[in-house]
Amino acid sequence: MTRDPQNLSTEERAILNKARKVRNKAYARYSEYLVGAAIKDEHDKVHVGCNVENKAYTGTHAERSAISALIASGARQIKFVTLVTRDGMTPCGDCRQHIWEFCSGNADVPVLCESEDGKLERFTIGELLPHVFEFESPVQE
Ligand SMILES: [Zn+2]
Repeated sequence: MTRDPQNLSTEERAILNKARKVRNKAYARYSEYLVGAAIKDEHDKVHVGCNVENKAYTGTHAERSAISALIASGARQIKFVTLVTRDGMTPCGDCRQHIWEFCSGNADVPVLCESEDGKLERFTIGELLPHVFEFESPVQE
């Protein structure tokens, strides 16, 4: 089911606003590419993150910053992802894999990507990462 990305629920709009707000705090002095992410966990708590760069270009992406906050809070599942960038870019491959790690196998977890001029696109993590990297871990979960 594809929903009109502009037709957001009140809750979705509130989460997206958090991503917009945290984007303004990004430390992107080298690329000037500000990114904000807001991710809802299994307890309906929203965690935010922004990108943090350094001179060695080994910075942290906004999505992984938000996931770190989610994990540090004790949560373990992602239910909803929002991302705000200059041009509405989707998460990079590494971030897609990180998001998938905490989707509990649910390929339908929504990922909303918005540009700074308000263009919004709605994806699922399954659409963004159709051939996920998986293997049988020797560590019992
Ligand atoms: Zn990334």
